Amino acid sequence: KPFIDFLPAITGSFAQPAAENPTVAMVEAAYRHHGLHFRYLNCEVSPQNLKAAVEGAKAMGWAGFNCSIPHKVSVIQYLDGLGESARIIGAVNTIVNRDGKWIGENTDGKGFVQALKEVVDPAGKKITLFGAGGAARAVSVELALAGAATITVVNRPNERAEEVVRNLNKNTPVTAVYHPWTEKYSISPDTEIVINATSVGLFPNVDQQLNIDFDSILPNMVIADGIHNPPQTHLLKTASAKGCKTVNGLNMLVNQGVIGIKYWTGVDVDPSVMHIALKKILNIE
Ligand code: NDP
Repeated sequence: KPFIDFLPAITGSFAQPAAENPTVAMVEAAYRHHGLHFRYLNCEVSPQNLKAAVEGAKAMGWAGFNCSIPHKVSVIQYLDGLGESARIIGAVNTIVNRDGKWIGENTDGKGFVQALKEVVDPAGKKITLFGAGGAARAVSVELALAGAATITVVNRPNERAEEVVRNLNKNTPVTAVYHPWTEKYSISPDTEIVINATSVGLFPNVDQQLNIDFDSILPNMVIADGIHNPPQTHLLKTASAKGCKTVNGLNMLVNQGVIGIKYWTGVDVDPSVMHIALKKILNIE
């Protein structure tokens, strides 16, 4: 009788709340499709229990795990090292067991830049980025490390936005400037890539619009949106109608999964399998 291996490698996610995170369905669809003997467990972990959860994953020899809200910064103290961008961003969302060393990576921005590169290479480009939260911070650092020339960060006035720009100028080669967002914003005509990394337009507030002058979007600009639900936001619809090339947040989410699975399994999985799984769950055509 051939030997049957009943012991899968384990991966998963620690977050609170956890129930509405669709990553498990997307990742397990890829595992099944590629016959990978891996599982992904979506776990609700409170801040008080994070240390025990990480120790549990280590004790059980997990291959790695994702961390989401509210653990992306606090998990760092339990790790043995950080990837380059995770160190600059100061937050991790993917932990990899590399020969017994637990290394923190951040795929929030990597997935986005990979999706963007399918349409335009950010190297040498002038970029306008709306938002200064966790997603904007991760995306801007990856764009800077990918060789972007300038990043103009547009956000309502606060210390967090100033810190995002300070961090970019101090720790990456990019030239970053901060434009406080106090009135209807007009995008500079020399901008080549425009990115929405705010939560404006996220389900269920799908009709919410960015406070920008939509006439300042020009057809030669590439427009990207981090919102994955709905994938066609008001911003992207407006941009497409003008003839702009666009990048949606669903691609960003799928690419994050592809990169995470590569870290854990070493295998390049087929993104289309994950796309189909996500669209089915999110009920998207
Ligand atoms: P945060 O809460 O950390 O940041 C939210 C950002 O949106 C802040 O810059 C905030 O500005 C801005 N914002 C919110 N409401 C408004 C408004 N009415 N007008 C102007 N700015 C506003 O969230 P995250 O950075 O973690 O996430 C942001 C978005 O990115 C989410 O929609 C999330 O779904 C998406 N995301 C997508 C990922 C993907 O893989 N597709 C991965 C991670 C995030 P202020 O500082 O002024 O409050």
